[in-house]
Amino acid sequence: MEMVRGIAKETLEFILGASKNTAPNEFAGLLHEEDGVITDVLILPGTESSDRNAVIKLFMMPNVESVGSVHSHPGPSARPSEEDLRMFSKTGNLHIIVAEPYDKDSWVCYTREGQPVDLPVLDIELEEPEVI
Ligand code: ZN
Repeated sequence: MEMVRGIAKETLEFILGASKNTAPNEFAGLLHEEDGVITDVLILPGTESSDRNAVIKLFMMPNVESVGSVHSHPGPSARPSEEDLRMFSKTGNLHIIVAEPYDKDSWVCYTREGQPVDLPVLDIELEEPEVI
């Protein structure tokens, strides 16, 4: 797996839109990279209303190859919960949490240890963001 140098702008916009559309329920998925750029989201089927449920489901995903995870919080805080941190350690190195109001400034990327990390948004040409 290559070093991830950023997330495609379209993919981030897809995540923000999906988080907004799913609210007040939670949106969750796993992140895939191609050539070092996060371009795809494997959406968690049957994402449910509480943070805890969705996070536990991410936990239990079979060993799909992912560079990390994404999920939304139904509120203004993008801070990871205890369950989030346990899930982070199992699902890759980069973890995006999107909070209200689900815009370009209301998300944070964390390392698997829960430290905020800068994830550049890359304005690159993509085909339609792929929902696997
Ligand atoms: Zn959470």
